[in-house]
Amino acid sequence: MVRDAWTATVLTLFPEMFPGPLGLSLAGRALETGRWRLEAVDIRDFAVDRHRSVDDTPSGGGPGMVMRADVMAAAIDAVHPAGDPRPLIYLSPRGRPLRQARVRELAAGPGVALICGRFEGLDQRVIEARAIEEVSLGDFVLSGGEPAAIALIDAVVRLLPGVMGKDASGTEESFESGLLEYPHYTRPQIFEGREIPPVLTSGDHKKVKAWRRAEAERTTRERRPDLWDDFLRKKP
Ligand code: SAH
Repeated sequence: MVRDAWTATVLTLFPEMFPGPLGLSLAGRALETGRWRLEAVDIRDFAVDRHRSVDDTPSGGGPGMVMRADVMAAAIDAVHPAGDPRPLIYLSPRGRPLRQARVRELAAGPGVALICGRFEGLDQRVIEARAIEEVSLGDFVLSGGEPAAIALIDAVVRLLPGVMGKDASGTEESFESGLLEYPHYTRPQIFEGREIPPVLTSGDHKKVKAWRRAEAERTTRERRPDLWDDFLRKKP
């Protein structure tokens, strides 16, 4: 498959949710100019019965419905045939939590094929049969994979060359250095009695840099001891 631009294909029961927020602002402008492509494909088009059903009751009993392996496999094979170089990802709370390093990898590749679950999620056999990577947005449960797919695509698209205004803002922010970012300030000089930290208006770039670094380290240590430990371990 030859594709000129980074391409996201999304399998969903709600294609009308796309592009949604991805059609606006930075991502939307880049979509319009062809910097990336988005295709939302309705899973229901691959249903095999008269009622176009995509789900059935869980084996073993219990609440909810499960998305059928045969319907999912047909949908996956149609949009992501063997040899498609793009990672095939199922957004799932059981997956590996998404981190900026994976987002960078995805941005460096040709695109991604995303599967959005609904109900209780996918039949396990199709996940195994198609060697699907499972990615989670965090330790909470959404009602469907679509908001997670939109978040993942948003995170990737802003890293594509030429999408963000100032290139530096992609490399200086939270996680890129292993630290959370320093806090930001802008005019007015005094807001409800609170001043901008004087070092930031001193004009001394070296001092500004040192202050920001110290703030980034302090914030990471206080808020995210897990990231702080990683940071200390990786420090040369
Ligand atoms: N029964 C499942 C939850 C299903 S939620 C469980 O407890 O693990 C329905 C769908 O929402 C999932 O199939 C998945 O695609 C999506 N979803 C829910 N939470 C998510 C999360 N934290 N990250 C990514 N996708 C999520």
